[in-house]
Amino acid sequence: MADVIVIGGGAAGMAAAIAAASCGDHVIVLERMDRVGKKILATGNGRCNLMNMGARRYPGGTALANRVLDLCGAGEQTRFWHYLGLRMRQEDGGRVYPISGMASTVLDCLRLTMDALQVETITGVHVDGLHPSKRGWTVMSGEQKWRAARVIVAGGGCAQPKLGSDGSTWSLLTPLGHTLVKPAPALTQIITDTAPIRGLSGIRARCEVRITRGMQEKYREAGELLFADYGVTGVCVMQCARYAAPGDTLHMDLTRAMGFNGKEDFLRELQRRRKVWAVRPQSELLTGLCVPKLAQALCQAAGLNGMQRAVCANLTGTQLERLAAMAADFQLMVKGVKGFDNAQVTAGGIASHEFDPVTLRSTMAEGVHAAGEVIDVDGDCGGFNLMFAFGSGILAGLDGRQAPW
Ligand SMILES: Cc1cc2nc3c(=O)[nH]c(=O)nc-3n(C[C@H](O)[C@H](O)[C@H](O)COP(=O)(O)OP(=O)(O)OC[C@H]3O[C@@H](n4cnc5c(N)ncnc54)[C@H](O)[C@@H]3O)c2cc1C
Repeated sequence: MADVIVIGGGAAGMAAAIAAASCGDHVIVLERMDRVGKKILATGNGRCNLMNMGARRYPGGTALANRVLDLCGAGEQTRFWHYLGLRMRQEDGGRVYPISGMASTVLDCLRLTMDALQVETITGVHVDGLHPSKRGWTVMSGEQKWRAARVIVAGGGCAQPKLGSDGSTWSLLTPLGHTLVKPAPALTQIITDTAPIRGLSGIRARCEVRITRGMQEKYREAGELLFADYGVTGVCVMQCARYAAPGDTLHMDLTRAMGFNGKEDFLRELQRRRKVWAVRPQSELLTGLCVPKLAQALCQAAGLNGMQRAVCANLTGTQLERLAAMAADFQLMVKGVKGFDNAQVTAGGIASHEFDPVTLRSTMAEGVHAAGEVIDVDGDCGGFNLMFAFGSGILAGLDGRQAPW
């Protein structure tokens, strides 16, 4: 019988295993994939943005995320990483990456520390049962059984199931009385009407994006957007996804992508160009501000046709107004968002108020904890999701004991 069984060898599970083992517990990690930490390797485009030094951004499970990070936030996690040997560097927006720039360095630190602490890691095990037993819990996978005094459920949500997390560990917790808050894909791409952006796939724009439903603004975010053949993606779009529904409108302020501050600022530049470029073709009007395909899409959407032949001097004030207005508010109809296969994170999961924020103990079942994305906590892009996974995993593993780092 082990002291602790950790279900799921992802970010939260490995942090939990290290914290428990470094307090002297005999720990077993059960992982369904052929090796631990597959998702970590895919994070941050292979660079692993493992935490964020800035203000916290958790649209889902805010209260629990704040309590956990008050206890095990950037300072405590930095000490944890130093204990594991990892050196890090901070980039724009408070994003923290391993100094090597490689996610595999983070995984090596976790994996090799688990080995050094004699954590028993068993891969290829899909846990499908969790039952109370005489002095703790029995964990089942088909006919196989393991017993431990404490169990930490860290099976993640169901974002990108090909990397391991398929939502199966929610159903270990719901029979114990826990509530499942409806899961939905978050940090994912937005599918839109594609006619206005045909041919723009692969083009990037730094701009401000808004989602509206009728007259109501649901969310706004600035950052890099990437046009795609199904709609739009990029960090600012992915952050909007949890607020977007079919029938909503996605607005882009593309004046910012061209270096201007809204419609009036851009209009002044168009008027200046009409004057100084009077004899140049209208098709050259946006030269130097954006790629020709985007210029063409904007002009087309503003109803400026026949630009090949006419010269800039012939542009009317109304036409320039229309073009400036279109650039400041380029609209696409939202058709939906990409599903769990593409999402980086799951919004929803096991209700966050059902866990003690100090130890992540279940308030429903003694000796059971949860950590990471299995809980209804989700953060924005920028390292917030891994930061919660590591922080909650550490607290669950320590279970109220002093960290040795
Ligand atoms: C492509 C991509 C990029 C990302 N980039 C970042 C980033 O740069 N920064 C950031 O903060 N966040 C990022 N995220 C989100 C972040 O990776 C997750 O929020 C985080 O990994 C959650 O950690 P976790 O341990 O809770 O779950 P996971 O990392 O999903 O781990 C769960 C583990 O449990 C195992 N498991 C599941 N069910 C069972 C079962 N029944 N039995 C046994 N094992 C089971 C899984 O195989 C998996 O190994 C990214 C996500 C993706 C998909």
